[in-house]
Amino acid sequence: MTQTRKQPPDPGVVSRLDTAEAVLDEIGCRSEPDSLYLCTINEIIRAAKVLDLPRRLRLILAQPKNELTMHFPVPMDDGTYRLYTGIRVQHNNVLGPYKGGIRFHRTVSIDHIRALAALMTVKCALVRLPFGGAKGGVIVDPTTLSEDEVMRLTRRFTSALGSNIGPDYDIPAPDVGTNCQIMAWMADTYANLNEPDRRLGGQGVVTGKPLVFGGSHGREKATGQGVVYVLEQLLPQLGLDVHSLTFSVLGFGNVGSWTAKLLCQHGAKCKAVLDHTGAVRRDTGIDAKALAKHVAKHGGVAGFAGADAVTPDDVYTCPVDVFIPAALEQMITPELARRMDCRVVAEAANTPVTPAAEQHLLEKGIQVLPAILCNAGGVTVSYFEWKQNRQAETWGPRLVDRRLKAHMVAAAHRVKDIAKQHSCDLRTAAYCAALDHIAEVYRIRGIFP
Ligand code: GLU
Repeated sequence: MTQTRKQPPDPGVVSRLDTAEAVLDEIGCRSEPDSLYLCTINEIIRAAKVLDLPRRLRLILAQPKNELTMHFPVPMDDGTYRLYTGIRVQHNNVLGPYKGGIRFHRTVSIDHIRALAALMTVKCALVRLPFGGAKGGVIVDPTTLSEDEVMRLTRRFTSALGSNIGPDYDIPAPDVGTNCQIMAWMADTYANLNEPDRRLGGQGVVTGKPLVFGGSHGREKATGQGVVYVLEQLLPQLGLDVHSLTFSVLGFGNVGSWTAKLLCQHGAKCKAVLDHTGAVRRDTGIDAKALAKHVAKHGGVAGFAGADAVTPDDVYTCPVDVFIPAALEQMITPELARRMDCRVVAEAANTPVTPAAEQHLLEKGIQVLPAILCNAGGVTVSYFEWKQNRQAETWGPRLVDRRLKAHMVAAAHRVKDIAKQHSCDLRTAAYCAALDHIAEVYRIRGIFP
């Protein structure tokens, strides 16, 4: 099934706000060409156009509701202080409390976090979670800090967020550079600072916590598990079977490693992996579990004895059924897309494929399974964790998996059906499925006052 993106809108209809540029111009918001934010709003407007959504919705969704930037000092182990900048962007809460991860990374910027917050709004809507979208982060390379320094940074950032987060208002979670320990420190800091929310130990304020402190079974592997459920649903129509496919992975952190481990458990073969430290390839199959252990110990795939060290190009050009980018945004450029030899790209990271690269892939007959569908498993199990915290319940691992599967299967079918109905690519279809739901809720709620 070969598809191409819908044609860019006719300049004659720009006044109807059919392009991201027109919408951003109208609200006086500036964004660099090709920035993640512009690309994200472009996708939203493309879908809004397909659905013929009212002008006011296009304007509302093109800008976040709230944006917070905080500068705060953190004492270092050597007694000096360093100043850090933290951000939280709350994009939309028409469906429920704001929801989205906290990223500790040196590339964190307001434009980027805005885009990621908007992605959370559409992601939660697509899988029908009662959440809006948010994202946050601190500009920091956490690998250069000691554990104590990361703890103090986390606590200080959480105190700066103050009552701008909360179990009924805005619920953070892990993202790139953060983990369950950091979520535990956030929850503990919040509970100590916010008297009224201490009733349930303040746990419900963040998700992705350790199991012993209000975490959920299945949360750690959730994003990878969600990718696998989506592949199970969408690959058969492309003549591929999850149990016998070959794949390669870009990025071997939580999402990449869990996706690879789970696919290997199904009988699929991992041929190549690339991360920030190096690239490895073994055409007879890499042991994903052993590679994950190596990465946990050495910080990256470089030096893994169970495969050959190769160049990044050897990974991109390696013939596989499914290529899985599971690292950062916008990593697959047109140049790389031209070199890739696969049938499907499954976006396990947040929009790792640029729009221009997607055009190349689609022209080559390569399907792109969009991030807001593929990686929605993480936030779905976050929803289960939040629900368990509120009800003081613990669900077993099988119940979590069963419910996650139900959400992912329903969302995959939603996307498939809309793609057929509007004869559009899967990304546009996923955004349509999300926006249709958001528009319906806006129609029923109306706009205050
Ligand atoms: N950071 C993850 C995402 O981008 C999870 C967010 C959450 O669980 O709230 O989807």
